[in-house]
Amino acid sequence: MNTSITPAEQGGTAALLLRAEPCLWLNPGRQALLPELQPVAGSRIGLADTQAAAARCARFAPLLARLFPELQATAGVIESPLLAAPRLQAPLGLAPGQGRLWIKADHLLPVAGSIKARGGMHEVLEFAERLAQQHGLIAAQAGPADYLALADPAARELFARYTVAVGSTGNLGLSIGVAASALGFSAVVHMSADAKPWKKERLRQRGVQVVEHAGDYEAAVAAGRAQAAQDPFSHFVDDERSLSLLLGYSAAALHLRTQLRDAGIAVDAAHPLFVYLPCGVGGAPAGISFGLRHVLGAHVHCFFAEPVQSPCFMLQMMAGQGAHPSVYDWGLSNQTEADGLAVPRASLPAAELMAQLLSGCFTVTDDTLFRQLVQVLDATGERIEPSAAAGFSGPAMLLGSAAGQAWLGAQGLLAQLPRATHLVWTTGGLFVPPAEYQRFVQRGQA
Ligand SMILES: *Cc1c(COP(=O)(O)O)cnc(C)c1O
Repeated sequence: MNTSITPAEQGGTAALLLRAEPCLWLNPGRQALLPELQPVAGSRIGLADTQAAAARCARFAPLLARLFPELQATAGVIESPLLAAPRLQAPLGLAPGQGRLWIKADHLLPVAGSIKARGGMHEVLEFAERLAQQHGLIAAQAGPADYLALADPAARELFARYTVAVGSTGNLGLSIGVAASALGFSAVVHMSADAKPWKKERLRQRGVQVVEHAGDYEAAVAAGRAQAAQDPFSHFVDDERSLSLLLGYSAAALHLRTQLRDAGIAVDAAHPLFVYLPCGVGGAPAGISFGLRHVLGAHVHCFFAEPVQSPCFMLQMMAGQGAHPSVYDWGLSNQTEADGLAVPRASLPAAELMAQLLSGCFTVTDDTLFRQLVQVLDATGERIEPSAAAGFSGPAMLLGSAAGQAWLGAQGLLAQLPRATHLVWTTGGLFVPPAEYQRFVQRGQA
């Protein structure tokens, strides 16, 4: 792959990207068949790692049900529903005969209220498990019931000596802060200037230390990483580099496989599955895409959705490995109301993992995010935050553009569309205060 991009080399996509207009990029490097293990950040990961992450969450489930009252009903399982959305098809421009629309409702994920409940929770649990094993509080072969011991004073005293820190635009901080403090860690969240005040307030109410930074997401992460590096009792959750986060996200694929089966949705050559995932630094959508491609196979097509002013992952995929472009280099502002996606530079491990796996990326304007947030409310009653709306322009981008049509034709997918499933991943919204949500709706209606 080339390491520098010029608009001429990338054709119309780069020109649109420069002008901050919605565009679609299709990955020429995508492979239908994947090796069992894939290189990432000097390591190799495969389905077994996704299964291990899911097993870890299952071991902790009884403990989580005790720590979080809202998890009692699911016995400690943190999962979201799969929702049919037939009434949303027409508003989104998905014609009959082009496939059926579903929503993977991570905006309803308990504890964190966003997709970050998956990766963030997993990384905190992995850190707690390692400490507890090192200090002999649980055996290597301990089962779920044994993990209840981690709520006892001995474990809490151990955890209280450690700090879990993270840099975030908001939602990752909410997830890490809440998970870490519930286990007894002290928690520090470094937040960027664009983080919403209510997210900071919610964390402070739970005893989490919030450090505010004047700069953007990248600056908040760098500050948090530097501070934690000086403290041997500090674990820094590194959103730009962490494999634990990525694998926590990937475990979503195992549960989704069951949900698809229960809903009678096949995924095979005659029944392709298109998945549209909001993308910030790329860890969450890359983890999920990795899981989906390994669990469901070649007929899953994953697309990442980014704001027109923050298309860091699309830029990274176009530039290829060896480069690490920033949206600022392209004259873009990184200004967007989609605070969960306001990231100037992609995660390199996520991009490395997606090189052969991802089908494409597209961008969306803030106005479209707000309009579709309202369409979602009207057609389904679901309340999502602006970031979580980014996937909804995916079907029209793919089916309604010349580039998308040409790609579908070349992949042999046009004839399969009547039996296709379009799955939009909604990534956050549960804890948005009602007054804030009303402002979103007003803007979307205007
Ligand atoms: C964090 C986040 C994403 C994207 O996750 P990344 O790992 O940053 O790509 C999408 N939607 C919401 C609501 C988020 O908070």
